[in-house]
Amino acid sequence: MAVSYDPPLNPKQRRELEAALNALPKKDRDRLFDAARRQRSDAQKRRRAKSRETIDGERVGGKSRPDPLIDWVLRLLAEERKRGHSEESHHATQSSDLHEGLVIGLTRRWARVRPDGAEPVGCRLSADLASRQQSDIAVGDRAVFTTQTDGDPEVVRVLPRRTVLSRPDPRDPRTERVVAANIDAVVIVVSLVSPPLHPRLIDRYLVAIEHGGAVPIIAVNKADLADADGLRAAEERLSPYRDAGIPVVFCKAHPETGERDVSALRERLVGRTCAFVGHSGVGKSSLANALDPTLRLETGAVRGQDLRGRHTTTSSAMHFVPDPRGEIRVIDTPGVRYFGLADITPDELRWMFPEFVDLAWDCKFTDCTHEHEPGCAVKAAVADGLIASVRYETYLRLLEELRTGKPPGEITERIRPPRED
Ligand code: GDP
Ligand code: ZN
Repeated sequence: MAVSYDPPLNPKQRRELEAALNALPKKDRDRLFDAARRQRSDAQKRRRAKSRETIDGERVGGKSRPDPLIDWVLRLLAEERKRGHSEESHHATQSSDLHEGLVIGLTRRWARVRPDGAEPVGCRLSADLASRQQSDIAVGDRAVFTTQTDGDPEVVRVLPRRTVLSRPDPRDPRTERVVAANIDAVVIVVSLVSPPLHPRLIDRYLVAIEHGGAVPIIAVNKADLADADGLRAAEERLSPYRDAGIPVVFCKAHPETGERDVSALRERLVGRTCAFVGHSGVGKSSLANALDPTLRLETGAVRGQDLRGRHTTTSSAMHFVPDPRGEIRVIDTPGVRYFGLADITPDELRWMFPEFVDLAWDCKFTDCTHEHEPGCAVKAAVADGLIASVRYETYLRLLEELRTGKPPGEITERIRPPRED
C-alpha cells in the first residue's frame, strides 16, 4: 500500500487523527506504529538509493531527516479510516484529550509540561521521543500531550522550534544534542579572576549561539575581585565584542558575602527566556540565584563536596524569575560545560561573525572565505581597524579546525582553562 506524501495534514485533521489514535485500544495503536515504522524505513531506503538532492525530508540543523514517525502513523490511520477499517470506541474518544504546553522540566523518560495558565503536568515521553530524548525534546519546547483515564499523560509530539542551543554529543560528535529550545538569549558567563578571563573561549560559544538562532550576551562575573584598573583592562579586552554589537555586562553574584549586582544583566533579560553557558566555576548558578534568591541553585561551595566536583544529575529545568516588567525564564542545564561547534560547515562559519556579515556582500567573490581571496572586504576592514584583528584571527583558527575536523575532545582539552586547586 502506497502512502501519499501530500497533501500534508492540516492542523485540524491532525488534531482529530491524534485524538482518534489515542482513543484506539493499545494493540491497535501498536499495530499502526509497527506498520508505520516499516513503511518509513522502506521509504528511507528507497530515498537513499535515489540521489541525495531529492530527499524530501525536512531539513534539521543542516541534515535531512525523514518525517517523524507519528506523521506516518497518522497518515496510515487516515487511510484506514477512509476505508472504514477503524472501529473507534466512543467511550475511549471521550476519555482521552490533547493539550499543548511548555516543557519546563526533563529527565530521561519524563517531562513536566505546563499548559498556558494551568498547573504543570508530569508526562511520560512516548517511546519514540524517549529514544531520541536528547535531540527531539528539550526544556523550552512546546509539546503536545495526551491525557488518558487509563494511564499517565504522554508527550506525543514537539512543535517546531524558533531557536535552539545545541552541541555535539561528546561520545558521537556527528549527533547534535539540543540542550535548550526556544531561548531568546544565551548568556555567556566569564569571570574576571578565578578562573581568569580567556576572551578566546567566548568565540566558540558565540558561533554555537549564532548557529542556533538566539542572541548572545556576555556577562563578566566576579567584578568584586578586580580593582578599577582590572575592570578597565577587562573592558579593553572585551571591546571587540562590544564593537561587534554584542552586549557586555559586568556582574557580581557572590553567594556568601552577599555582594551582588546583576542589574545590568537583568535589564537585558526582562521578559525573555535564556540559558547560561560558560566554564565550570565562573558563577552561572550564582548569577541565576542573584537574579532570584528563591531559586537556590547549587553553587560551587556545595557542589565541592562531590569528590569529582561535578553535577551528577542529568535533568534540566526552567526557572521563573518574577519581574514586574516581564517574567525572566532561565533554563538550567547542569552538567553541560562545553559547547563545541556542532555540525557547522566552514561555509556556514562565515555567517556566524555578525560584524563580517554586512561587509561580506562587498567581497569580490560571493563565496569568499575571507582568507586569501583578492578583493575581500572583510580583510580590508581588518586592515582599516574596522574589525578587531583578534576576532578575525579567531575566525581563521576556527575555520582551520572545521576543515581539519579535529575531534571536539581534543579541542575541549585545549580550551579548558587551567585548573586551580
Ligand atoms: P558555576 O559552576 O558556573 O555554576 O559557578 P558557581 O555559581 O557554582 O560559582 C563558582 C564559585 O564562584 C563559587 O564558589 C562561588 O562562591 C563563586 N562566585 C560566584 N559568583 C561570584 C562573584 O560574583 N564573586 C566572587 N568573588 N565569587 C563568586
Ligand atoms: Zn571576503
